[in-house]
Amino acid sequence: MSGLYDLHCHSTASDGHLTPTEVVARAAGLGVATLALTDHDTVAGVAEAQRAAAARGLRLIPGVELSVLWQRRTLHVVGLGVDPQEPGLQAGLAQMQRARQERGEAIGERLERAGLHGARAGARALAGSADMTRAHYARWLVESGQVRGFEQAFQRYLRQGRVAYVPGDWVAMEQGIEWIRGAGGIAVLAHPLGYDLTGAWLRRVLDAFTAAGGGGMEVACGTSPQPRQVQKLGGWCRRYELLASVGSDFHAPGYPSREIGAAPALPEDLPRLLDALP
Ligand SMILES: [Zn+2]
Ligand SMILES: [Zn+2]
Repeated sequence: MSGLYDLHCHSTASDGHLTPTEVVARAAGLGVATLALTDHDTVAGVAEAQRAAAARGLRLIPGVELSVLWQRRTLHVVGLGVDPQEPGLQAGLAQMQRARQERGEAIGERLERAGLHGARAGARALAGSADMTRAHYARWLVESGQVRGFEQAFQRYLRQGRVAYVPGDWVAMEQGIEWIRGAGGIAVLAHPLGYDLTGAWLRRVLDAFTAAGGGGMEVACGTSPQPRQVQKLGGWCRRYELLASVGSDFHAPGYPSREIGAAPALPEDLPRLLDALP
């Protein structure tokens, strides 16, 4: 009855290429009935997305994607159905944005020192009013012809161990989950196969995540769309009795498996996170 839906998308409020209005218009054009906007560490795009969604009869779920630390690993936790005005969440996001700004500047300095002149100004221009992220630097590296593609930008410069890598000074996972729940939202472990974790480590993450009040996990991900990946994630979701979420992790047009609404279908026996949203 709920139609096509997507609970993980980015806009220019963080590192997406389309404005919140354009994201909503694109979703509507693709037949998506329910969309969550989940920008990195900010809810700045939610109000605009809500206005655009109301004008098109689309249901917009206010969301956010927090970068958090657990055992020195960076994980992503999506908060769905949050109240964007809630003071605790607002204060937490302000703290995270300062960390993001400092990291964005530090990456630029490292690239400049490595001889990539114009990197900082280039990323600044691409980020607009949003904070500069690795994705903005990667885009500048591609568009200025320094590398062939995003993958190579990360391989050569931006990933852990490379010259421009700056570790993120993120909050603890438990803290991030607390902010989301305090704002009335459900905390969802994003793209669980995106962290290069062994099964044993994924189990430890899920133990800690559920103990801290995490309520859901992405099972149908645009970033791991193969049937065996969905099956594997479905198994973990059942085992931990979490709500199953669906998200493309859309950032930009041109990546078919990560198009809005293009995430694979959920196994039918799993409890849908969608049905738990207000
Ligand atoms: Zn993510
Ligand atoms: Zn994302």
